[in-house]
Amino acid sequence: MKIGFIGIGTMGKPMATNLIKAGYQLIVYDVNSKAVAELQALGAKSAVSPMEVAQDSEIILTSLPTPQIVEQVVLGPEGVLAGAKAGTVLVEMSTVTPETSRKLAKAAETQGVQVLDAPVSGGEAGAKAATLTIIVGGEREVFEKCLPILQALGKKIYHVGKVGAGQAVKLINQLLFGINVAAVGEALVLGTKAGINPDTMFEILSESAGNSYALQTRYPNFIAKGNFKPGFAIDLIAKDLGLVINMAKENQMVLPLGGLAEQAYRTAQLLGCGGMDISGIITLQEKLAGVEVRATEDKK
Ligand code: NAD
Repeated sequence: MKIGFIGIGTMGKPMATNLIKAGYQLIVYDVNSKAVAELQALGAKSAVSPMEVAQDSEIILTSLPTPQIVEQVVLGPEGVLAGAKAGTVLVEMSTVTPETSRKLAKAAETQGVQVLDAPVSGGEAGAKAATLTIIVGGEREVFEKCLPILQALGKKIYHVGKVGAGQAVKLINQLLFGINVAAVGEALVLGTKAGINPDTMFEILSESAGNSYALQTRYPNFIAKGNFKPGFAIDLIAKDLGLVINMAKENQMVLPLGGLAEQAYRTAQLLGCGGMDISGIITLQEKLAGVEVRATEDKK
């Protein structure tokens, strides 16, 4: 089966690689030609536009940064729908909004193309290990048709409802993750400033009620090493929190903690930290406190 893959970034590259390993024929597109060349070296074909990807694929997967880019890539003049034949399926795996997914599905329907929204969780490590959690919205029969492909990318695959439902669940997850990482940063800086060894704090918090996925993934791999290369970028969590705040407005809700977290990440962006891993939010507190939360040399 011929699969198209658009967006060969932090997540897309290992996902596309896993599909090649699983034996699928891949045709890929990205504005970054270096990323495309890496996939070509593994046996993928390359295309000059999303339209050309669609002309040559039965199923097209996308992993792109923002709703605006997703809309341009799918609905634009050289986009996926300009090239897709009836019967093609678009599996949109970026984190966008339920509304964006529904807009794509509506436009696609007019030409017999079906859409699943299938955002993922598990980060770059999960993408590399093919252990992503994949949260899917769309028609059940389309989901079942695409399931073998999704199983080459992830371990836990959920069908949660109609188009857009996958994005709604994913944004809820991002709300929790964004708040949790900001909280980890604040807490660890306070402890360090109060004279507690960061490794000791990590060990005790890991066995206490303050433990979290945010602490476990962000302290040892990023904060302790002073390595803030993403991972999952501050630009992306700032985008996701903006999207979930809009989702709350549409549902007549307020998100006081989510709003605070969004402002913190946007502050980091304005200070030039948008390209850092999400854990880089801690550097703002570190500067205010005049301390750095790092492992002792032998544990780095
Ligand atoms: P990324 O920025 O590393 O990758 C995005 C890729 O899209 C890049 O290679 C970029 O060159 C390409 N691109 C940008 N504009 C394009 C266009 N017009 N046409 C074709 N290609 C284009 O982002 P990422 O971290 O891989 O994230 C991708 C999506 O997955 C985002 O929506 C993100 O929120 C979501 N996500 C990321 C993670 C993570 O840990 N990084 C985890 C879960 C979900």
